[in-house]
This record gives sequence, structure tokens and C-alpha cells, in this order.
Amino acid sequence: MARILIIEDNPANMKLASLLLRNAGHTVLCALDAETGLTLARADQPDPILMDIQLPGMDGLAATALLKQDPATAAIPVIALTAMAMKADQEKSQVAGCAAYVAKSLRYQELYAAIDTLLVKGEPQAASAANPFHRTP
Ligand code: MN
Repeated sequence: MARILIIEDNPANMKLASLLLRNAGHTVLCALDAETGLTLARADQPDPILMDIQLPGMDGLAATALLKQDPATAAIPVIALTAMAMKADQEKSQVAGCAAYVAKSLRYQELYAAIDTLLVKGEPQAASAANPFHRTP
């Protein structure tokens, strides 16, 4: 099972994502803003990061770009949490370096599938070189 960092400012979404992931046996770390999330990512080296795109202050795209520029965090796969209808967010998240995205409102099957796909791949950098963006079913 994985250690998963969730960066999400909406308390209801955070609660739901944490619950779903803990129920699946994962360990969950939570950050309500990008700055806290970046600090936790460096300190705790989570397996994947679930990154809300729309955050107050620094948004999820900028935070992902910083994670990818930092050698300490570049290998951590980032799964973007995007608003359901925001195709533009999904494309931008790919450009910023996200390995996958899950559209909100969260459906647990999609969330589990995105995480399983990344964990099975094992080596995140090899996975991103081969196919940087996996649409979850
Ligand atoms: Mn948000």
C-alpha cells in the first residue's frame, strides 16, 4: 500500500479522498494549500501526490511544476484532481508534469485505478517517458 499526499483546499473533497484512500489501505498525508504540500512532499517523500488544480495562492499546476523541477521530488508521480468539465485543466496538468488526472467529483473506482496504475509501473520516470499521461477509464 502507498503513502499518499493529498493537496486539496476543499474540506469536503479532502475528507472524501482521505476516507476512500484509507479504506483502500493507504496511509494519507493532508495539506490544505500548495506551500504546505510542497514542504510535506520534500519531508515525507509520498508515493504519489493527489493534487487539486484549483488552490488558493499557488495553484496545483504551479506546485506540480515546482515538484518536477526539484530533484528531491521530481520522481514522485502527481495525479491531478480536476473539475469535471475542465478539459483545459486536464491538458494543463499534463504539461505541468502530472502523470494522470482524476476528475472531481471523485469516483472511487477512478481514484483507485489511477493510483494502482502508477504503483504497478514502479519506476515513475520510466513510466512518464513512455506515456506521460494516462486517462483513467
Ligand atoms: Mn480547490
